[in-house]
Amino acid sequence: MSQRRSLLLAGALLLGLGVLAWQKAWISPVRLFKAPPEPRGDTVLFVVLDSVRADRSSVCGYERPTTPTLEHLAKEQGWSTACRAYAPGSWTLPSHASYFTGLEVPEHGAHSLAAGGQALGQNTSEQVRPLGPEPQTLAEHFLSQGYDTVSVSGNPVVSAASGLTRGFEEVRAPSRFGSWYGADLTRQLQHALEVGSSRDKPLFLFLNIADAHVPWGPVPNGLDWVPARPGLDWGQGTLWADFLGGRMGPDERSALLGHLGDVYDYGVSRADQTLAEALDLLQDWKRLGPGSRIVITSDHGEYLGEDGLLDHGHYLGEPNNQVFLLSSQGGPLLEPISALAVHGLLRDGALPEPLPRVRAAAFPHVQRSEWTEGKWFTRTSAAEWRADQKVMWSDEEGWTEGLVGKRSAAAPDPDLSVYVSAILESGSSVGEVDADLSEMLRAAGYMEE
Ligand SMILES: [Zn+2]
Repeated sequence: MSQRRSLLLAGALLLGLGVLAWQKAWISPVRLFKAPPEPRGDTVLFVVLDSVRADRSSVCGYERPTTPTLEHLAKEQGWSTACRAYAPGSWTLPSHASYFTGLEVPEHGAHSLAAGGQALGQNTSEQVRPLGPEPQTLAEHFLSQGYDTVSVSGNPVVSAASGLTRGFEEVRAPSRFGSWYGADLTRQLQHALEVGSSRDKPLFLFLNIADAHVPWGPVPNGLDWVPARPGLDWGQGTLWADFLGGRMGPDERSALLGHLGDVYDYGVSRADQTLAEALDLLQDWKRLGPGSRIVITSDHGEYLGEDGLLDHGHYLGEPNNQVFLLSSQGGPLLEPISALAVHGLLRDGALPEPLPRVRAAAFPHVQRSEWTEGKWFTRTSAAEWRADQKVMWSDEEGWTEGLVGKRSAAAPDPDLSVYVSAILESGSSVGEVDADLSEMLRAAGYMEE
């Protein structure tokens, strides 16, 4: 081979490698060669705005303008809207498992639990159960109907380790909270659509927007409805421990709660903004149309000091369990309604018949129990809402509670007793524990080191 020819070959090879590297680094090959999808208006879209309380959402009357996108959908687009919807579980894993399977928490068994009354905080890796291989999930249903199935989550719990992504062909989730908020999440959505959706198939898309979940980032300057604030995270653990342990003076306590309320409200508004950006992206991709079926809800609320509690994942008072439910189809939503109804709305485009009971279960939370000995972190609880009254049960104790918080003792309710028995049964044995799930929860801050 002549020297000139060798040089030419080497040059061509280098050029080829350079183009490959450039494509890999900067432009996805899929984007280079794939034309935009043809319009397909029959997308089924399920959005969970993680940790968003109904009463802190302007679509449900909150005075701060936290959810303008939801307001637009409810008021201008005329979507069916319920502000007294109730999550079936008290944190991400049990509620999502219910939404995906259509089952109540004791039926699917994906939750955290304390085995045999052991002290929480010890052997926590044995106290979490992922969703098992049965029953069929929404994603498996749509996959069997010929859909592309895509899950993009800002919450690391919605990943393969928790069993929640069973049936999704394209799955995207971060390894920790706070890394995929806002534009980072919509970028992941765009990549997932590029790789996981095709022009000739309908799409089932699940989107978890976690901007309102801790860690709560700083509130920037320049908003006229909330003052600028530095961020707040569980890392500032002594603050939280002092609050939960009742070791704060009234001024310190009120300063903390003021700060919490502001950064949380800003988180809710960011979640609503991320939703707007995701809907815009889907419009650009021509994946939304009159035939689309879209349902938006939350998986639980958040304690912001009520009943002396912070965080979510425990106890079934209103702050942790009342969410909104918006649906583009399916007719009026009578309230109160179980958010479990999203399963039928998504699968069939109609409310399930009969409607699921408006009730929820909570199991002892695995985190920070030592701060809250004797409080709700350490109890198994059940609640059922009937019109304006809910029946509560925790351990051996039962009572009714009005919506205004008036509490009166009640004999254990026969209907609730059946549910409670199912809860105790589902929590009485420790199932297969997935090491990946434990590791992920620990990294996400749900479990102690
Ligand atoms: Zn959640």
